[in-house]
Parts: sequence; C-alpha cells; structure tokens
Amino acid sequence: MTPLEIEIRRIIAFDGPLSISDYMRDCLGHPKYGYYVTRDPFGPLGDFTTAPEISQMFGELIGAWAAAVWRQMGMPAKVSLVELGPGRGTLMADALRAAKALPEFRAALGVHLVETSDVLAAKQRETLAAAGLPITWHRDVRAIPAGPAIFLANEFFDALPIHHAVRSAQGWHERVVALKGDRLAFAVNPVPALNFEKTLPDAVRDAPVGAIFEWRSAAYALELIRHLQSHDGAALIVDYGYTETRLGETFQGVRGHDYADPLVDPGEIDLTAHVDFAALARAGIAAGMIVKEPLTQGDFLRRLGIDQRAARLKSKATPQQAADIDSALARLTAPDQMGELFKVLAIADPKLGAVPGFDS
Ligand code: SAH
Repeated sequence: MTPLEIEIRRIIAFDGPLSISDYMRDCLGHPKYGYYVTRDPFGPLGDFTTAPEISQMFGELIGAWAAAVWRQMGMPAKVSLVELGPGRGTLMADALRAAKALPEFRAALGVHLVETSDVLAAKQRETLAAAGLPITWHRDVRAIPAGPAIFLANEFFDALPIHHAVRSAQGWHERVVALKGDRLAFAVNPVPALNFEKTLPDAVRDAPVGAIFEWRSAAYALELIRHLQSHDGAALIVDYGYTETRLGETFQGVRGHDYADPLVDPGEIDLTAHVDFAALARAGIAAGMIVKEPLTQGDFLRRLGIDQRAARLKSKATPQQAADIDSALARLTAPDQMGELFKVLAIADPKLGAVPGFDS
C-alpha cells in the first residue's frame, strides 16, 4: 500500500468518504506524497508524453502566437508571459527561442511560471537557465503581478480536481471515494446535494436516474479571467476534452503510457479528467471576455504554419531526423493521434479585437 493510501484510509476512517475532488487533489498535490510533488513523470520512460516533449515545433509556434498577440495588444512596453503548470519547462524554452525573431517582444517580456511541484520547478530552472530572461516562479495564479499578460496552459486544466454527481429519483448525489472491504472504491453520498440543481448547465438538467455528471470548479479559470479583465491580454488553453457540456465521466489514471485504475496506488499514478471547454467558455463569456470557438489542435497548429515549419526543419535534416520530424508532425496533428482529441481555446480581453490563429 502506498504511504498516501495509508493516509487516505486514516482520513476516511475518521471523517467518512472523501469527495473525488479532495481525493484527486491529494493524489496529485499532497505536499509529501503527491504524484507531481515527488517526480518528473514525462517522456518515454515516464508515464506520459506531452506535445512540447514530442517536438520543439509545438513551443516555437506557441511562442510565435504569443508574439502575434503582443503586437495585437499594441506592443505594450511590459508584458507578462505566464505559463500554468510548465512541466519540464520545454514549451517555454522553445517559445522564448522562437521569440528571438522579434527582439522588441523579447525585451518586453517578464516570464512567470505557476508551479506547485518543487521537483518540476527545479527541472524548469535547469531547462530555462540559458533563456537569458528574468523568470519568476509562483505557486498560485493569484500571485501574478498586475499588468498586461499572455497566459499559456498546456495539459494543465486536466490535472485540476473534478467532482462527480450521480442522479437518483431524489436528486443529485455526490460520488465519493470510500472504503469497501479492504480497498478504496467509489460510493455515492446517500444525502442529495442541496441546491445542486440550480447550478447545473441546461444540457444535463434532464438526466436519467443513474447518470453521472462530471465538472471542475470554475475557480481557477475565474482567477485567470479576472486578471485579463483588469489588465489587457489573452489566454491560450490546450488540452484533451470536449466542446459541449455533457453527461458521463472521464476520470482516469495513467501509468507507464497506459490507463490505470484511479483508485489503485494513490500518489503513484497520474490522475486526469477531460476538460469541458464549453464550461471554460461560459466562464469567459460571463465575464465579458471574447471567447473563440475552440479549434482542434491539428487545425490550430496548421493555421500557425506547422507544415511549413516542419518542411524548413527537414530541409537541413539527415534522413533519420527528417523521419522523426514527420512522425512528430503526425503525432501532433493527425486526427487519430493528438490532432482532434486535443482542443485549443482562446479567452481574450475584448480590446484585443482579433485573436491571432483564430481570426485569420
Ligand atoms: N505543461 C506541461 C506539463 C503538463 S503536466 C507540458 O505540457 O509538458 C501538469 C503540470 O501542472 C505539472 O507541471 C504539474 O506539476 C503542474 N500542476 C498541477 N497542478 C497544479 C496547480 N494546482 N498549480 C500549479 N501547477 C500545477
């Protein structure tokens, strides 16, 4: 049994079952035993590989996107480039290298990384040592200093905790993590959640008995949006997910590039759930932001010129390198790989007008 499971069982024994949200938050972020707190999980030898780890093209194109946003903002003398959950720091390193093409943009940049894992923050420091720009680390998006900002979040929102509710004849009940016999198991709180009905999105209000609804607190997105509201800027959110709020659940464990039971070995496996892009869009629209219809990752990267970028890299490559570039291009953009499951959403201050990549 993992040390975190011992702790979770102790809490359940005293307090009763845990919400899935509390369970997920502890599994990923427990200060001693949390998954991200104790390891660098990326790459072929780790548990999963993200887009920036597949190819430098991903971060470079996002760097070019950020530069285009800065121009669209009227080239402010100072702008924060903020990344939420930067992993190994690869996306930011590639983005800052690409930004060398626009020295005025680089000169305006202050780089801010929001990261809760000390292990990964140390890795980011190493990756970005040669970037030649001031970088500040924060644990919380609320600590980002005032001023115009461009936010980037790749595979960040899927790691934020989710809730589940189950529909019964009486109403909606929170789904929880309980002890059944000698193992952790899902259970349903017998008392219906009060007032839950009121906050439900219309699309799922008429759910049949037994249906599960999964959602993520809007709190994190709202903090980011609040920053855009009081200063200029835009946010780019890339993740796997869906574009219409719906019933069903996607809570999953990932280990060694394969799916794993989310209730087995807490703290040792990655836990994620797909992102409801419609929910993020609603939060942005309610705050008066412009929110663009999400694009698939494949479409977004093609609009930013990934095919031309790949061709340019291949023109200077050995045959082996050229084959690697082609395979990375396919992984990032092909519909049966990351191209369609992953979506890209932009939320921007209305003063921005057009959003690069979305309005071209
Ligand atoms: N963006 C990176 C890493 C994605 S993994 C990439 O594409 O490779 C998720 C990242 O978010 C990790 O760096 C993890 O430590 C961080 N993280 C998870 N929850 C967080 C939170 N609540 N606040 C800040 N960072 C968090």
